[in-house]
Amino acid sequence: MYDVEHVRRDFPILERQVNGWRLNYLDNAATSQKPRAVIEALAKYYEQYNANVHRGLHTLAEEATIAYERSRGRLAAFISAESPNTIAFTRNTTEAINLIAYAWGRRTLKPGDEVILSVMEHHSNIVPWQMMAGETGAVLRFIDIDDEGQLDQAQYHEMLGPRTKLVSIMQVSNVLGTINPVKQMAKDAHDHGALMLVDAAQSVPNMPVNVQDLDCDFMAFSSHKMMGPTGIGALYGKLEHMEPMGPFMGGGEMIREVTLERTTWNDLPWRFEAGTPNIADAVALLPAVDYLNELGLENIRQHEVELTRHALKKIGGIEGVTIYGPPKAEDRGGVVAFTMGNVHPHDIGTALDQYGIAIRAGHHCAQPLHRRLGIGATARASFYAYTTMSEIDQLADALVKTQEFFARRTRPTAV
Ligand code: PMP
Repeated sequence: MYDVEHVRRDFPILERQVNGWRLNYLDNAATSQKPRAVIEALAKYYEQYNANVHRGLHTLAEEATIAYERSRGRLAAFISAESPNTIAFTRNTTEAINLIAYAWGRRTLKPGDEVILSVMEHHSNIVPWQMMAGETGAVLRFIDIDDEGQLDQAQYHEMLGPRTKLVSIMQVSNVLGTINPVKQMAKDAHDHGALMLVDAAQSVPNMPVNVQDLDCDFMAFSSHKMMGPTGIGALYGKLEHMEPMGPFMGGGEMIREVTLERTTWNDLPWRFEAGTPNIADAVALLPAVDYLNELGLENIRQHEVELTRHALKKIGGIEGVTIYGPPKAEDRGGVVAFTMGNVHPHDIGTALDQYGIAIRAGHHCAQPLHRRLGIGATARASFYAYTTMSEIDQLADALVKTQEFFARRTRPTAV
């Protein structure tokens, strides 16, 4: 039995009061809360073995290096990567995608080459490719969605061809919740000689992800969405692609030998980690991974499906509410984006805050998707391992009250 109340006790922030209410944190797709073990690991690092990694000969430097590299190894195992050398630490998903755009795209893409993305992508999986297309003359193509927020696979197959060099797709949408069939899409890409990058920012935290099973070439994700600290993330890359790749940034750590004329590159994965890395946050990511493993990714996924099913029913049942994305909870991640009549999503967000409920409102870094849906913004509730059914009930009640409040305000007054 998954005991959510037991889980909640590990998250100190959940005891907080906001505007006189117990915090109801439903903004997990933006960032997750941190268990005590992560917070303590951060403090322990700074209190006991803060030192720079890889270059020191003293005890603290050795301890910091061991902890930093152990975290890399644990992260590699977490996504079933073939070796720790396939994992480069980055700041976040965004930096991981930029790393591929610069270190691979800039040197590989030629005028007329094609990169396939989709209309539901996060800006972090669109803008770097626009920048790279601008530099190289490559062409971007975008897979459309159907009425249920699923990618148009027939259109994808038509797009694939000899010019396709890369397919870069999110595994779970941060707005629609759609779970994309990235395994099949990777196979299709490979059949055409193209590589596959998976933006796993919304999947690695919430469901079992196995890069070898998916057979993707690259994967990007962020620690802060998986109970770990901010400022650290990862790029996974198959060794066969990472090995011949030159660096993203130049500086210390990423070199083997430097003369005044030239430099030779360090081995993987340090070649992609120029300068002093974010040691503290990398180290404190390890207990987050351990914590997720302890809860069990299957259990977290199951819990989120149940929460989402409840939310689709409760929130979807409110008059005037439109929910975007697949109708069935099993087909989505724990994200529910919606509009409510003509109450602006920002007003919904501000009104809910009065009840201690934290949601997100806006375009969620997916402006092309919102434009495709014909709306400017949505309100978004997103769940995680510590979310309860009663928090969703409270959200639904507060939405009804918000709607009543705005209906009163907009009713014309009699003269
Ligand atoms: N991709 C997706 C699907 C996301 O949801 C996010 C975060 N909202 C990102 C990429 C970017 O993540 P980060 O800001 O941590 O780089």
